[in-house]
Amino acid sequence: MSAIDGLPPLREVIARHDLRARKQLGQNFLLDLNLTAKIARQAGDLRTCDVLEIGPGPGGLTRGLLAEGARHVLAIEKDERALPALAEIADAYPGRLTVLHGDALRIDPLQHLTPPIRIAANLPYNVGTELLVRWLTPPDWPPFWQSLTLMFQREVAERIVAQPGGKAYGRLAVLAQWRCETGIVMSLPPEAFVPAPKVHSAVVSLTALPEPRYPADPAVLMRVTAAAFNQRRKMLRSSLKGLHPQIEALLEACGIDPTARAEEIGLREFCALARALEQAERD
Ligand code: SAM
Repeated sequence: MSAIDGLPPLREVIARHDLRARKQLGQNFLLDLNLTAKIARQAGDLRTCDVLEIGPGPGGLTRGLLAEGARHVLAIEKDERALPALAEIADAYPGRLTVLHGDALRIDPLQHLTPPIRIAANLPYNVGTELLVRWLTPPDWPPFWQSLTLMFQREVAERIVAQPGGKAYGRLAVLAQWRCETGIVMSLPPEAFVPAPKVHSAVVSLTALPEPRYPADPAVLMRVTAAAFNQRRKMLRSSLKGLHPQIEALLEACGIDPTARAEEIGLREFCALARALEQAERD
């Protein structure tokens, strides 16, 4: 029996259900329930929240979330082999765990969730960034979720929290930090997982701000940052010249040096440029 919930240890669950990890599903399992409970605590007070979990696998983090008191967990898992193990957890926490079998990129979870909603997951590396970008670009702001507590490869985590001036700083940092408070809240070595991945991992916390830090139209801001970072080694006057014939004057009007490169430009400047471009396109 395990300490946190009276269910069997995860090693036993994995052996009994023959859940050998599959690389193509990005499977690296967390087996230490003290660690998964610690990750769950990083997601804040879950007692009054519904939690969306992507990729529960054998259920280590799911059990952490439930043991930490989550009101309800909606877990979406692609691997059919994990379903019997997850059903056992649902039996141990009556009415508090719903499992949907399928691809998280194709399932709309909203009809199964009641606000307030938080998202917590040890994400499959092959779909992690795509899901994050979707969660960060909803049709309206604030989004349907209050916070995201997500495990990524350390290199991706660093790109989310990066500040201007370094190689890690790019579109993901701008997108995440424009409307969220972000931070790396835990670092995990490869040995924390079975099988051990080649790289270190980190848990990132993103809390949705009620308003963006600086006003800008999301689509225009995305256009500006895509152009700037797609040619990040070029000066802005050259990487952005396709956006507007007078881009150099627009940059100067925003107080941005046209010979600067994308990675030197902060959020405030990118937003100012997006507003100036939108205005110039309207005129
Ligand atoms: N949460 C478990 C843990 O922490 O031990 C497993 C994490 S493992 C890194 C990623 C999980 O996501 C696997 O269980 C895998 O089957 C699942 N998965 C992979 N692609 C998926 C997708 N498109 N939709 C839903 N689940 C997916």
